[in-house]
Amino acid sequence: MKALARYGKAFGGYRLIDVPTPECGPEDIIIRVRAAAICGADMKHFRVENGSDEFNSVRGHEFAGQIVKVGEEVKDWKIGQRIVSDNSGHVCGTCPACDKGDFLCCEHKVNLGLDNNRWGGGFSKYVRIPGEILRIHKHAIWEIPENVKYEEAAVLDPICNAYKAVAQQSKLLPGQDVVVFGTGPLGLFSVQIARIMGAVNIVMVGLDEDTKVRFGIAKELGATHCVNGSKEDVVARCTEICGHDNLGLVIECSGANIALKQALEMLRPNGEVVRVGMGFKPLEFSINTITEWNKSIIGHMAYDSESWRNSIRLLASGAIKVQPMITHRMGLSHWEEGFTAMANKEAVKVIFTYDYPDADTAEFGEKLD
Ligand SMILES: [Zn+2]
Ligand SMILES: [Zn+2]
Repeated sequence: MKALARYGKAFGGYRLIDVPTPECGPEDIIIRVRAAAICGADMKHFRVENGSDEFNSVRGHEFAGQIVKVGEEVKDWKIGQRIVSDNSGHVCGTCPACDKGDFLCCEHKVNLGLDNNRWGGGFSKYVRIPGEILRIHKHAIWEIPENVKYEEAAVLDPICNAYKAVAQQSKLLPGQDVVVFGTGPLGLFSVQIARIMGAVNIVMVGLDEDTKVRFGIAKELGATHCVNGSKEDVVARCTEICGHDNLGLVIECSGANIALKQALEMLRPNGEVVRVGMGFKPLEFSINTITEWNKSIIGHMAYDSESWRNSIRLLASGAIKVQPMITHRMGLSHWEEGFTAMANKEAVKVIFTYDYPDADTAEFGEKLD
């Protein structure tokens, strides 16, 4: 089968390669991928040529599909079930994070489709869910509710991320305001969670290039205002919208240092900024305001099983909307087109389906619905 793989250790480009069909061990599950989405985390390797011939991994950590084979010792899952992976491939089970069931913060975790690993990810035809992860972390995969499409389930990773950032990490109360920096999927899902939680003003901050597609989608999903940081004074405009006393929470999804600086300036005393985005440059400004005014910078990574349980329910209930965010659907053979649309910010979410000639062959005798 074909698979989109990454080469090189740290940063590196993609190559379309042939890989063997996965084998199903006694505790493993094989799924046929029905939808896989490009994530921002995939973008940082696009068009980076590091010259390395060292295979890293098959990519694609946001994927959903149907179970086509279960190992003889698997009791909890059966062929035909529609599932989505939280992309855990390996966790240690004994560190402080694992003790709390916070497997995504396990320092030894290996993610399917994201880290160097031997199981592979969703940019392919089949994925093996390793039995060892299901033994330690039973919620590494979730059944998809009947009224949720594969392509919608495939983007639960950023939904759960935004859910945890807004609902679990902050002290947001209904009636307060929220500012969200960054117009990618994490920002747009954060807008939706803020709306569900009863925020009054929800301000999306982006740049010039976001005005063509993403600001419109943000408004459709619940943003009450969009601020163009390329043209407007972001702190002055957000303060004008929210007033002096109402902005207790900023969700920072852009990763830009200037956004963190502006977030700290605009927050009211005791306010919080949850930093979801990542930047790689050291900060060039003072953060004394967090001491002077008791503001907090809250770190954030991923989600836990509670985020998954609740996000799946919100998705099935219709409260979280995915369709306006799926701007592109295409066969995996067009992967470069999909990545280019993401790079140009024409796309918010690109969904791949497997379309190589062997797409019609059912190697596990599966009948797909
Ligand atoms: Zn992701
Ligand atoms: Zn652990």
